[in-house]
Formats: sequence, C-alpha cells, structure tokens
Amino acid sequence: MARIILAQSQECIAEAVNVLRGGGLVCLPTDTVYGLAAAAENNAAVQRLFAAKDRASDNPLPIFISSINALPSVCDDVPVDVMQLANAFWPGALTIVIPKANAFHSLALVGGDTVAVRVPGHELVLAIVKEFGRPVTGTSANISGLPSPSTAYDADAQIGDRVDLLIDGGRAGGAESTIVDLTGERPAILRQGAVSAQEIERVLGAKVSK
Ligand code: AMP
Ligand code: MG
Repeated sequence: MARIILAQSQECIAEAVNVLRGGGLVCLPTDTVYGLAAAAENNAAVQRLFAAKDRASDNPLPIFISSINALPSVCDDVPVDVMQLANAFWPGALTIVIPKANAFHSLALVGGDTVAVRVPGHELVLAIVKEFGRPVTGTSANISGLPSPSTAYDADAQIGDRVDLLIDGGRAGGAESTIVDLTGERPAILRQGAVSAQEIERVLGAKVSK
C-alpha cells in the first residue's frame, strides 16, 4: 500500500523527492487530474509506471518540467511557436509536443523523437519537480481505460497499492490538459482539454487542425 501524506504537511516535498530519487512512483494532485510522477530518465521507474497503469508499451507518457527555463533539458532548439504557447499558457493545462533533445533519454517516449511536455499550474508539483531537478513523468493516475481520478480517494482506489507515495491535496482541477503537436507541418490538437483550440490559434496567429 502507498503511504498517504497530506499536501500541506511540511515533509511533503522532501518525501516526494526521496521517492523519485529512489526510482519510486508518486501519485499527486495537479491542476488537471491526479497524476503519476516517476523520474523520467530512470528506466526502471518508468517501466514500473507502465506496469502500474497497465499502459500499452507503445503509448508515450507526457513529461513535467518546473519552468520554461527547463525546456532545454528536453528540447535542443526550442521553436518560436513553442515559446509563444509556453509564454501564454504555462504554468497551465497545455501539453506541447516538440522534438526531443538528443541528450534526453526516457522510456516514457517509447523510442520516439518527440516529447509531450508542460509546466503544470500547481505550486506543490512545481516545488517537487524543481527540487528533484530533472524532468518527471506527468501522466494521469488512472489504470488504462478507467477514468482519470480527480480526488485522492479515487486515485487510491485505482492505483494506491501500486505506488509508493500518495499525496492528498483535495480535489484536483478536473479537466485534462489540451495536447497540441507542433512537430508537423501545421499545429494539430491531439486531445481537446482545458485550453481551447481558439485560444491556441489566437496566440499562434494560425489555424490548428482539430
Ligand atoms: P495520459 O498519459 O493518460 O495522461 O495521457 C497523455 C496523452 O499524451 C496520451 O494520449 C499520449 O498518447 C499522449 N502523448 C504523450 N507523449 C506524446 C508524444 N510524444 N507525442 C504525442 N502524444 C503523446
Ligand atoms: Mg490519461
């Protein structure tokens, strides 16, 4: 069973970082739904995460970074349109698919050359990722095929016995992040979520495929 800890508790950040450093899994509230964090560059940790979610091994996991300044850890030459969207929506519920950095190796990308990344709009998550110092996975804390949990209770019921630490931070935002792919010829929405296509088009000054 996971240890359950309250988001308000003093040792929360340190405990979460310890689990990440040890290759463990942390279930935590975010600005969208409850998420599952593992050290993205730790193969064993990411493999455990795929198993915990019963996740198909060819379905990549999104990545959290702690700020726009950390983009170079996952992408070598950050395209202008990525910066425009990041400046407009981060921290927040927009996941952006971009070319991965040569030096960023993660099983979360399942062998692809792109990475889906965002800076979440949740102070506790940002503090944990910042203190950890490297990218972490930012996938929803559900078992594949089941609904994404928006409370610690729901997350515990689904996945509590498969993670090392569960942080109870009350109700999470609810809506999933929008995923926009900027690696193709024109921007494409891969998943509709909290940010609308119109908002993205306004920032880019261009049409996006839906
Ligand atoms: P989940 O992991 O269930 O929270 O959902 C994240 C979504 O992001 C899934 O539908 C993934 O297929 C998608 N995703 C993650 N990484 C990538 C990527 N590099 N390119 C395209 N989609 C991605
Ligand atoms: Mg999901």
